[in-house]
Amino acid sequence: MTAALFNVSTHMEGSLQRPGKIICVGRNYAAHAKELGNVVPDKPLLFFKPPSSIIDNGETIILPPPSLTKQVEHEAEVGVVIGARLRNVDGKAARNGIAGITCVNDVTARDLQKTDGHWVRAKGFDTFCPWGPKIVPFPSDDQLAKTEVTCRVNGSLRQHGHVADMVFSIPFLVSYVSQVMTLEPGDLIATGTPEGVGPLKSGDVVEVEVTGVGVLRNPVR
Ligand code: ZN
Repeated sequence: MTAALFNVSTHMEGSLQRPGKIICVGRNYAAHAKELGNVVPDKPLLFFKPPSSIIDNGETIILPPPSLTKQVEHEAEVGVVIGARLRNVDGKAARNGIAGITCVNDVTARDLQKTDGHWVRAKGFDTFCPWGPKIVPFPSDDQLAKTEVTCRVNGSLRQHGHVADMVFSIPFLVSYVSQVMTLEPGDLIATGTPEGVGPLKSGDVVEVEVTGVGVLRNPVR
């Protein structure tokens, strides 16, 4: 059966279709790898977030109880939404198979990421994947070179990065993932976060902004 193509225009704000899977890329900005004491990888570092972690613009990020984690942090990222079934494709086909981009906040329990040895709990709590507010068509190369990702907490700037500074480009990442698993229309790839990750506490309002997409705003409780 051929999957239907993902149509960006039918997924406007407030009606985003949940992805079947969420693949994330770690340490894709050199300065962020360094701030956490990690080396820049020579291959993309991949991990999953469960689709159950998705929340939409305006919904609340729920902090787990302190018995589980005491260090929850924001990670502002460009989200890539897949538009076609992609299996073992090259970079050019990967680019053509991208439906669009959106904002993602890869919320992370940093203490668990360090102590668990794998990242299932650290990245996987319910509400730990805000995305939106909408999906816009994949930018031209010129636009992409000027695309920035920004994070603000209570109006204060925390993160500011440029897509041009990614270690691995978006088409390369999509191609790389497709060599491992079939990507389906609607799947989401979070492409890594720039430097400046930091804590979230109850009462905060966290915003992720991607040029051309808009602002993803979520309260924290
Ligand atoms: Zn991340």
